[in-house]
Amino acid sequence: MELHEENIFKIKSYQTAVNTLERGEISIEGLGVSELQGINGIGKSIAEVVFSLGTSQTHSVLEDLLAKTPTGILEILEIKGLGPKKVKTLWEELNITSTHELLEACQAGQVAKIKGFGEKTQESIIQGLEFKVANIGKWLYAEVEAAVEQVADAIKELEVVDQSVTVGEYSRKMEIIESVEFLVSTKDRRGVMAALEGIKNLEKDKKSSSPFKWRGVIISPEVKVDIHFCGEENFVKEKILRTGSKAHLLYPVEDQKPLIDFLNEGPFQDEKEAYQRAGLSWIPEELREGFFEFEWAKSGEIPALLEVKDLKGILHNHSIYSDGKHTLRQMAVHCKELGYEYLGISDHSRSAFYAGGLEIEKVEKQFLEIESLNIELAPFRIFKGIESDILNDGSLDYPDEILTGFDFVVSSIHSPLSMDRKRATARLLKAIDNPYTTILGHPTGRLLLRREGYPIDHKVVIDACAARQVVIEINANPWRLDLDWRWVHYALEQGVKLSINPDAHAMEGYADMKYGVMVGRKGGLTKDMTFNALSLVEMESYFRGRKDKIKATLEQ
Ligand SMILES: [Zn+2]
Ligand SMILES: [Zn+2]
Repeated sequence: MELHEENIFKIKSYQTAVNTLERGEISIEGLGVSELQGINGIGKSIAEVVFSLGTSQTHSVLEDLLAKTPTGILEILEIKGLGPKKVKTLWEELNITSTHELLEACQAGQVAKIKGFGEKTQESIIQGLEFKVANIGKWLYAEVEAAVEQVADAIKELEVVDQSVTVGEYSRKMEIIESVEFLVSTKDRRGVMAALEGIKNLEKDKKSSSPFKWRGVIISPEVKVDIHFCGEENFVKEKILRTGSKAHLLYPVEDQKPLIDFLNEGPFQDEKEAYQRAGLSWIPEELREGFFEFEWAKSGEIPALLEVKDLKGILHNHSIYSDGKHTLRQMAVHCKELGYEYLGISDHSRSAFYAGGLEIEKVEKQFLEIESLNIELAPFRIFKGIESDILNDGSLDYPDEILTGFDFVVSSIHSPLSMDRKRATARLLKAIDNPYTTILGHPTGRLLLRREGYPIDHKVVIDACAARQVVIEINANPWRLDLDWRWVHYALEQGVKLSINPDAHAMEGYADMKYGVMVGRKGGLTKDMTFNALSLVEMESYFRGRKDKIKATLEQ
């Protein structure tokens, strides 16, 4: 009501009523309107609202207010320190209606400039937004990984522990983690419980724990932890039962007999034996989603999944030519030091002015630098690339005579991001149709836990990439992991190759490659189908072949 400038006296009377009811001195359960009206400070109209909320969970007054308030505004109202007045100002002055827009405006320094806000408020809003994300209790895999591994090692080292592993979504390498689970086998559960007290960064929740289960949190970053116990003989069986998703365990393997029933026939010596009991070959942990793994396991052969060591080069990276932190030389030398055979540099194209996108003269300057570095660093090679913005109408950012100079083009959408499914899909399709597009970059533009991507028709987009032989990126930045692994298998079935791209904006960014591999594996990605598993020689000939093909098509 404050947000919509309702009558100030009306707002006051609601506040009084809320205060009275929250004191909890009167039980209002089952009271009718006239009885509610008898309570001190509650008038007739408020009594009707309270009655309606109690019986039907809603009221037209509430409905009307919600109808004219964007859901994003409601989320912003939850941020600490932002009252309705300030939220209203942000809404009116900067047209901000979502937490994502608010964060961007803060990062761009726009919020500090508003009268009555200032740097301090802006900073606290940013913190509030980050807090909100953290508060939901969800973390990126990459954010909790180090802390989980530390605790895992500490548990393993306890003398009273026989065996211990992570299970649950963490062991399935889910991109987002809500709770971390461990399975411990021991003859001395009490002893383990006592020893767990001494593990750093781990805190027991005494209320929810029991003599049979340890519950608590990793303190920093704060994530829920469950520790399960079992005897040595049941360790294998329990591990599979606690690792597989519901869909995996309930999958009807044979005559409607679900996998879980076979597993319950255990104990087993090892996991291979357990899956064999159900007539299946062993299934890697990250595939246990009840998704496509049984097609493979039934046929007896799970193909070898991609490994980090299979990657021969790193495509899609930025340098100080656009918004990167390190020079082209630094990016190249470090890539070579890591043992890769080639680097694909793809700074932002000119329309991405906010990211220092390259004007044509700068492209030409970069080409010269690449050519001289290629002589110096040989046999290591830098490929000339660009991350071309896919413009609003789906076209790429430079004229053909410039595009033709690149070895490869990563085509990506950066702005505007708010589009419906039909428009977003059409925009991508046009870019895929452009003969210069080599790789489709971060297909949905999502930032996990921060913003949804634009909606796209995945099937249509993947089919188009198959038809035009466009490679799809798995952006390995842990915030993106886009293409989502749930679509990787479909892409592979259509014969589309995937490229694990870190989108590095600094040398350290190369370390993200492993998260791309992680989600690629979840989708069943193999070395054969990974674009940047090609050796330098293969990649050179691929790019050359593609250029020749474009030439031939244009001459027709
Ligand atoms: Zn991008
Ligand atoms: Zn990029």
